[in-house]
Order: sequence, then C-alpha cells, then structure tokens
Amino acid sequence: MTYLEQFKAYEKKLQAYQYVLNVVGWDSATEAPKGAFERRAEMQSMIAQEAFELWTSDTYLETLKALEAQDDLSEIDRKSVKKAGEALRKVNKIPADEYAAYDKLLALAQRTWEEAKANDDYDSFKETLGKIIETSKRFITYRNEDKAPYDVLLDDYEAGMSMEKYDAFFDVIRQDLVPFVQNVLNNRPEKPAFIDRHFPKAKQKEFVEYLNEVFAYDLDKGLLKESVHPFTWNTHPSDVRYTVRYLEDFLFSSIFAGIHELGHATYEMGIDEAFTETRLKGGTSMGIHESQSRFYENVIGRSYAFWTVHYDRLKSIFDEALHDVDLDTFYLGINWVEQSFIRVEADELTYPLHIMIRYECERAIFNDGIALDDLPDLWNQKVRDYLGIHVEKDTDGLLQDVHWSGGAFGYFPTYALGSAYAAQIYYAMQKELDIEAIIKADDIPQINAWLKDKIHQYGKSKTPEELLLDVTGEPFNPHYYIEYLKAKYGPLYIG
Ligand SMILES: [Zn+2]
Repeated sequence: MTYLEQFKAYEKKLQAYQYVLNVVGWDSATEAPKGAFERRAEMQSMIAQEAFELWTSDTYLETLKALEAQDDLSEIDRKSVKKAGEALRKVNKIPADEYAAYDKLLALAQRTWEEAKANDDYDSFKETLGKIIETSKRFITYRNEDKAPYDVLLDDYEAGMSMEKYDAFFDVIRQDLVPFVQNVLNNRPEKPAFIDRHFPKAKQKEFVEYLNEVFAYDLDKGLLKESVHPFTWNTHPSDVRYTVRYLEDFLFSSIFAGIHELGHATYEMGIDEAFTETRLKGGTSMGIHESQSRFYENVIGRSYAFWTVHYDRLKSIFDEALHDVDLDTFYLGINWVEQSFIRVEADELTYPLHIMIRYECERAIFNDGIALDDLPDLWNQKVRDYLGIHVEKDTDGLLQDVHWSGGAFGYFPTYALGSAYAAQIYYAMQKELDIEAIIKADDIPQINAWLKDKIHQYGKSKTPEELLLDVTGEPFNPHYYIEYLKAKYGPLYIG
C-alpha cells in the first residue's frame, strides 16, 4: 500500500467510528429512554477510546508525515492531509494523562454548572471555571504558536479570525448598532398580544412539516424529530437530520428554530460528495455554517415577503389563535425587539449585543487576566451599557450558557459573525437574484441552488475567508450587517 492508500484507509476507519458515535449521539438526544444513559455512556466511551488510540497512534502520524513531505498529491488530498495534520497537532502535543484529566474535569463541570445555575450560585462554579481556563491556557502553550492565547482560541473556532478583527467588528456594533437599538426600543408600539397565546403542539408540527416542503428539504435524506435543544445532525450529505422543540406558549420557537436548522441542513446536503472520504467534508466553519442558518431564519423566514405567501397557511392551521391577527401585526410580532437577559431568546436586532458582552468578557479573561471574582460585575455592567437592563441574578447573567462549562471559549463570536456574513452574502445575492420576488413566488429552491453553487458544494475546500471573497467580491465587511438591520428595523419601528 502507498502512504496515500494507507492514510485513506485510516481516515475511513476513523469515519466509521465517528459514524457510530454520531448515530448513538442522535439517539441519545432524541428518543433513547432515560434509563439507557449509563450503559450507553460506557459503550460510547469504549468506542471513542478506540478511535482516539487509532488517531493518535505512531503509525497514523508516520503516514501523515510521509504525505506532508510528498509533493505529488492532488489538491483535494493535499488539503485533506493538511487539515488532518492541523487537527492532530492540536491534540497530540498534550500529555495523555493531562488530556484525560481535562475530559474528566469537563464532565464534572457540566454538573457543577447546572447546579450553580439552578441555585443562582456563581461562587460554587468559580473554582471549576478557573480550572477550565487554566487548563485551556496550558494546552495552548503546548502548541507553541506565536500568538496570544485568545487569538489561538478564536482561530480554532473560525479560521482567520483574531482579536484584532473581532475588535474592529464589535467596534462597529458598539458605535453604530447600540444607539440604533436604543432608538428602536424607544419607538415601540404596544407588544402584539397574540405572541403569548396558546399554540397546540400537533398543529405546530404540521406547520414545521409544511416548512420542510417550502424549503425543499429532501426527506429521503433527512429526518425531523424533537429534542430539548434544536440542532442539526449529519454524517454525510445523504443523511442530514434536524430537531425542533414545540413550546405551546411560544409558537416562534418551533417555526424559527426549524427554519434555522433547515439552513444548516441544506448546507450539509449540498456538499460535493467528492469530499466524503476526506477531511474536506462538512461545512467550512462555524461562522459560515451560522450564516446559512441565519440567512434562512432571518433574511428569508422573518421577511415580510415570506409571510405574504405563507401566512394564510399558518392562519388556517391556527384558526383560533390567529383569526384576528393581520399580516402586519404578525410581521411585527416575529420581529419584536426587546431587552432581554437570555441570549437564546433574544431577537435578531439585540442578538449581536448579547454576543458582544460574551466576547468582551472572554477577552478580559484570556487577555487581560481579570479575576474571576470580578467577572459577574463586568458582565452585568456590559448588560447595562448595551441593553439598558439590570441583571438581578447570575442565572440570568453569566451562568446562563453551557459554553464555558464545556471549555468552549472563543465560540460565541462566531454566532454574531454568522449573522454578519449572512448580510454580506445577502447583498451579493441581491446583485444576481431578485430575492424578494423569488420568495414571493414561493421558489426557495432557486435560492438554494445559488447557495449551493457559491457556498455549499465546496465543503471545507475553501477557508471562510476565501469563500467570502469569492462569493461577495470582498473580505468580511461588518457594515453590510448594520445596513441590513437598519433597512429592516428602521421602517418597522422608527418610520
Ligand atoms: Zn445554528
């Protein structure tokens, strides 16, 4: 066997392990009985261990090194080998015992955080948080990169990003968007009352299934289920599933989380199968993935044009709850702006402010060495500055998100970046397609085809920076995002 054949055989085997773990993960998040937890966790960890040993074995590394020195590889193979090398070297420089200890720390941290959140007791989580931060910093030093630790983390979650770039992005948000949001908040009419009405679960499900048709989600390759937190799951373009949750007192949760996940799913389904056996399979980055889901959810799903076509259907399903709600009121309802404490419940306009708070806190932790005792005050001060509300309890403040207890520092900013990418992509698409007319003609497949042609098909073969440049003709430019938000929310609230 050549080194290349050997490498491909390893990769295929690693993918097989991953496939099994993914299916178990899907089962566990959707329909596995609670009682199965312990046995499943044991079986899962044995398989994960096998995969980890293969991946970090000397023979795998030797094969990889041999291929890295080879200059006759195809472009796909070369990029795949490069990605495999990058992924392995993030891990294999960490001593095995420290890696295992960190795994254990995170498993315990999950529970500690859940309890701290339930009891509104930051102090009981602080020590664990400190250990996670300290360990992530130490792991970064093993990689010997000539970069600030937080820059390393930011680049891990979104290749090419750094504090310098995010600072510039959030400066624009702080200067341009924060005053605009305040203006919107000061000009709000009365909150549409229908939002709080009762929407039976079975009917919500009927409408989400209708959305599957509207967005041309291929049910031969897809599956819709229910879970506590909505997510998209995939192993291959021929198997891309998603979940929603049905809240009977909040209709928008299933509709917009559904459309959001359909955006992620359509991306994964559109990736060229030539990348399947390589490291180039899957979406290219968190930010680009999120741009696709936000494009679906906000640019299409929360547009007036979309509901001119689909509101009658919704109304016919929820005849009781919506009989006296006209289209304009419904449109205001789905784009209702308010100051809220909780990120996952935030509207499209205030969402980036929630992310900015998290980015600035993480930056303070990793770059400015803020004492963990001072973190709640810093968080709460930023909530006052940007959203104008006072955090009463840490449960609604810095304890609300799962990310830090999972060691995922540097992840948050990709959410806001995704929305901003989506706006830049929107203006590029607008030059070639009459988006509003297409939405009104109920022809989403035309938009899907454009996205597939420009973005989806490439998988990881283009970096986020390359992709954005090729699609929009310029590097990331946050001003499109501000322009998009002002063009939408200005007329709706300020006139
Ligand atoms: Zn998402």
